[in-house]
Amino acid sequence: MAEKVIEVRLKRQLSHDTAPYWETYHVAWRENLNVIALLMELRQNPVTADGTAVTPPAWEAACLEEVCGTCSMIINGKPRQACSALVDSLTWPIELEPFSKFPVVRDLITDRAKMFDHLKDVKAWIPLDGTYDLGSGPRYSQTLALERYKLSECMTCGCCLEACPQYGPQSPFIGPQAVSQVRLFNSHPTGAMEKDARLDVMMQEGGIADCGDAQNCVKVCPKHIPLTESIADVSAQTTVHAFKSLC
Ligand code: SF4
Ligand code: SF4
Repeated sequence: MAEKVIEVRLKRQLSHDTAPYWETYHVAWRENLNVIALLMELRQNPVTADGTAVTPPAWEAACLEEVCGTCSMIINGKPRQACSALVDSLTWPIELEPFSKFPVVRDLITDRAKMFDHLKDVKAWIPLDGTYDLGSGPRYSQTLALERYKLSECMTCGCCLEACPQYGPQSPFIGPQAVSQVRLFNSHPTGAMEKDARLDVMMQEGGIADCGDAQNCVKVCPKHIPLTESIADVSAQTTVHAFKSLC
């Protein structure tokens, strides 16, 4: 019986300032392959479908269980993680591209530092003074704990930013991921100490008013974070904050 062959098309780019180009490869099918396993096959045998030896494709991966977000890329047109993309559940040929909203470092690797800068901009943390025993933390309801737990699952993968038509190098919009973290940290009794500073950022250029409400973000989040709820919640908080700032 003829061997089953997977066709893989990969958008390559050797550095930030060189032009991208496509290469096609053939990989022998086996059971339970994911896209990371495909890329590992290509790294071992970097030869295109027409028999040309090429440099091995570059990509990033770490946890391999959809927790770190490092292997995020565009797979068959959709932003997602390569580790959880199973070859048998994808249509073939399989097309792999780097995210378009961040600078390409090489091939499928992009520089997503901007996302982490957004988290710094909105102070996405709970300030703690570690110089003395703080005792037990403030109590809050189980309902709020569950709501906050869901928001805390964000792994800063960037899929929502890739899908958002308002986000990108041409725009100052901070994006849905940071907005949702504003909701997470403002809803914590201690985190709320920085609430005004976070909402000040939401009022500025690139803040919540730049969201166009297309709702692409919520459709691609691998953690099913209720991003549009977060946007509505932070929008309401920002409106109240704006009125208070006038008084
Ligand atoms: S609702 Fe639309 S514009 Fe707003 S963050 Fe989501 S994708 Fe972007
Ligand atoms: S909100 Fe979802 S899609 Fe956006 S960065 Fe976090 S985990 Fe990724």
